[in-house]
Amino acid sequence: MKNNPYTYDVVVIGGGVAGCATAIALKNEAPELRIAIIERKPSFNPNNTCVYRIGETLPPNASQQLQKLGIWSSFLECNFITAYGTSAAWGSSELYHNEYIYSPYGYGWHLDRIAFDQFMIKEAQKRGILFYFESSITSSEKKTKYWSLQVNYKQDILSINSSFAIDATGKKAAFSSLQKSTKIKKDQMVGVYRFYVSKDQHNDTTGIGNGTCVETDQNGWWYSATLPNKTIVVGYMTDADIANQLQLRKKEAFDNLLSRTKHTNNRIKNTTHISQPQVTAAHTQYLSTVTGDSWLAVGDAASSYDPISSLGIFKSLTMSQFAAYATLDDLKGDRSGLQKYQQIITQDYKGYLKKRQEYYAQEDRYTTSLFWKRRHANQNYN
Ligand SMILES: Cc1cc2nc3c(=O)[nH]c(=O)nc-3n(C[C@H](O)[C@H](O)[C@H](O)COP(=O)(O)OP(=O)(O)OC[C@H]3O[C@@H](n4cnc5c(N)ncnc54)[C@H](O)[C@@H]3O)c2cc1C
Repeated sequence: MKNNPYTYDVVVIGGGVAGCATAIALKNEAPELRIAIIERKPSFNPNNTCVYRIGETLPPNASQQLQKLGIWSSFLECNFITAYGTSAAWGSSELYHNEYIYSPYGYGWHLDRIAFDQFMIKEAQKRGILFYFESSITSSEKKTKYWSLQVNYKQDILSINSSFAIDATGKKAAFSSLQKSTKIKKDQMVGVYRFYVSKDQHNDTTGIGNGTCVETDQNGWWYSATLPNKTIVVGYMTDADIANQLQLRKKEAFDNLLSRTKHTNNRIKNTTHISQPQVTAAHTQYLSTVTGDSWLAVGDAASSYDPISSLGIFKSLTMSQFAAYATLDDLKGDRSGLQKYQQIITQDYKGYLKKRQEYYAQEDRYTTSLFWKRRHANQNYN
């Protein structure tokens, strides 16, 4: 292991919010650690035609986690749009507003996700964390004292050694899958979404302002939020089979369904679309085990939540701290940290499932709908 120039204490696979936050938390606790992140995407792609990424509302209490990580002041300098609350037509066709004014932490944010992910990468790099961009893992082998990882790096294949490995590859859970941990899907939810740009900055007649709005219909629920540069994202959350049946990848079908909504359609009245409908996975998922011999999974790789919770980024930030503690314990030869970490992830996931069922139960108007019947069926929280 000593002769290999690609040798680290910790290798994180996946450089999204969970991967970067865990690497930063580790460096905060133990600056001497040699940490590398293997990220499939390029560092910055000027030819990238994708202007925005979905997944953007950050609740007010995220400020606590950003402070703990020591990246709070840099986060504020990014000037993300502040969010003062959310609106929902859920269980009734009328909108009700959930103001963050009642939160002890103040306001939340509408993130530009591409800019936020870039911010996390820069903060990690500032702390001496090394990135291998355009790289992905092809195989892993646990030797007695370290991991030997084969990595496709641009045109090359590297052999990277590491004492500990962290899976932060999102829903793919790529490294955990190599360790034979099974992905357990709780539903088949997808999000079909389009971006729109407003022709007029001051045309809000909806009462929603620049906040996030959700609105249910027979087959699922609509989500809309304001992004920078007068852009609005509108997404429809339903199950994959229902999305196929409704042919929602076709813009005519998407627009037709959208035109039947009361509030969401009103919101995009004075806009033009700037993208075709795109589909993304949005299902609830957890891993049969999130820890193993000198490895753990964090973020969506460990467990991923329904977008109605708006908790994915917050959870990634929070759990990164626990993941860092468990990793440090394991590096010192204490395995109990990994057991505690497994318990924390399991408990959090069970609590989430319960809240998700309570929230969906509040919408009881669509008694014959397959989507809502699936959400109202008794869940087992294990
Ligand atoms: C429709 C929708 C709406 C959402 N809305 C919100 C919201 O409003 N608020 C909120 O907090 N959360 C929201 N979320 C959830 C949030 O986006 C995720 O929880 C969050 O992105 C998880 O972060 P992560 O770092 O675990 O995973 P990701 O952000 O998916 O990052 C994983 C990284 O790993 C890389 N990678 C993947 N495979 C490999 C590999 N084999 N090798 C190397 N690198 C790899 C990827 O390129 C990526 O950079 C939403 C999700 C969806 C689907």
